[in-house]
Amino acid sequence: MDEQAVRQLVDALPAGVVLTDPASTEAYRRDWTRAEDAGTPLAVVRARTADHVRAALRWASEHRVPVVPRGTGTGLSGGATAVEGCLVVSTEAMTAVEVDPVTRTATAEPGALNAAVKAAAAEHGLWYPPDPGSFRISSIGGNVATDAGGICCVKYGVTRDYVLGLDVVLPDGRLVGLGGRTIKDVAGLPLLRLFVGSEGTLGVITRVVLRLVPRQEPAATLVAWFDSPRDAGTAVVAMGARTRPSMLELLDRAAVNAVEDFRPMGLDRTAGALLIAQSDAPGPARAADLEFMAGCATAAGAREVHATDDPVEGEAFLEARRATGPALDARGPQLAEDVCVPVDRLPDVLERIQVIAGEFAVEIPVFAHAGDGNLHPVVLYRSEDPGSVQRARDAFTDVMRAAIAAGGTITGEHGVGRAKRAVLPEQLGPDVLELTRRIRSAVDPLGIMNPGAIC
Ligand SMILES: Cc1cc2nc3c(=O)[nH]c(=O)nc-3n(C[C@H](O)[C@H](O)[C@H](O)COP(=O)(O)OP(=O)(O)OC[C@H]3O[C@@H](n4cnc5c(N)ncnc54)[C@H](O)[C@@H]3O)c2cc1C
Repeated sequence: MDEQAVRQLVDALPAGVVLTDPASTEAYRRDWTRAEDAGTPLAVVRARTADHVRAALRWASEHRVPVVPRGTGTGLSGGATAVEGCLVVSTEAMTAVEVDPVTRTATAEPGALNAAVKAAAAEHGLWYPPDPGSFRISSIGGNVATDAGGICCVKYGVTRDYVLGLDVVLPDGRLVGLGGRTIKDVAGLPLLRLFVGSEGTLGVITRVVLRLVPRQEPAATLVAWFDSPRDAGTAVVAMGARTRPSMLELLDRAAVNAVEDFRPMGLDRTAGALLIAQSDAPGPARAADLEFMAGCATAAGAREVHATDDPVEGEAFLEARRATGPALDARGPQLAEDVCVPVDRLPDVLERIQVIAGEFAVEIPVFAHAGDGNLHPVVLYRSEDPGSVQRARDAFTDVMRAAIAAGGTITGEHGVGRAKRAVLPEQLGPDVLELTRRIRSAVDPLGIMNPGAIC
């Protein structure tokens, strides 16, 4: 790429929008996967408006430059990892949020943090439910592009269940509007859905319209300790059959110990697994839910069960769960899994992961949005030891294969990105893979959008 072409881009946008200095672009090379083989971007466009995004994509099309869209870079699948010579289009500076209490919608620019959308909704007594563990640091555009999940999905669903409308800048720089502020809209093919979870491979999202719901009731919390993850998984299956918990999370012993090392909270380091469940059902149904879930835990062999109506105590357990990601992060280099299986297969798959850890002599702490069957085994390795790196990679692949064999998926909420791309064909099969590629090239005939991500 000649310098003159880059100069054209710099000149087409206001001062400060295009970064070319390597000291500034370095921060845009990697997401949370911290890929060692990340490329170096030619430039970064820190868009402030949709028009800046349009100009960037028009320029990229004209010069056949690969584009890597980026929110706040908290992705756990390498979807925002820069490729060599790419243009990173960052939406982090587009942060406006507006709430309309009449239609119960929030209209947000893509760089607005999930937490900012929640806060804006709360000012009107409303709630935006999707709550990835990263809700304080991840952008709503990134949440839509990955179809992010989180802790409350077990009752309230995932990001796609709240997206009513999107503005998207297509690879050639045209801006299209999909959907709007209505709950119902069946005009044309459901293209809106295609863009939710598309991981930056079809265009850049520049505006999001989200459905809001009335504020959540305070929840009651149940905590149960088990001798093994299998027992905890058995309790989860039983609980899900007759209640709708608003949260149902699992930590195995290694995850509990990582939290205790990171931020001591007095959790039982000796138990095989911890379950944290909540019910926000109205009135007496809440106590009934807790009683039922406590019975399921006891029947599955829980060694201790504790229930509380006190929201402050409940929040303390939730904080333990939220600290798990950062606590495991502090354990060093790792490959983060995101497999999801039908809930009835949870006990088997939890056990299978322990077997895989033994087979490859690696540590795999597990935490899980257990009520969804969505597991986050974290394969730890020592980067200075090539044998450990290889065994971790093999274990990472085997865990995904175990999920496929159980009728599940290699990724429930983080996306395929670059990290899981090699195993995707085993899940989709040749026909669905080919269909995916055809759709992608229909929207992006030049193949400039996020090459190497997904497939
Ligand atoms: C501590 C921690 C906890 C987490 N917990 C959860 C969790 O519970 N649930 C969950 O689902 N995820 C979780 N994540 C993963 C991550 O936060 C989510 O995937 C999040 O949605 C990524 O948002 P982002 O703004 O950081 O996107 P980025 O990492 O910047 O990008 C992610 C993907 O989206 C694309 N993209 C970003 N913005 C746009 C845009 N405007 N238009 C088009 N494409 C775009 C990128 O190209 C990339 O493919 C967690 C991460 C961390 C670090």
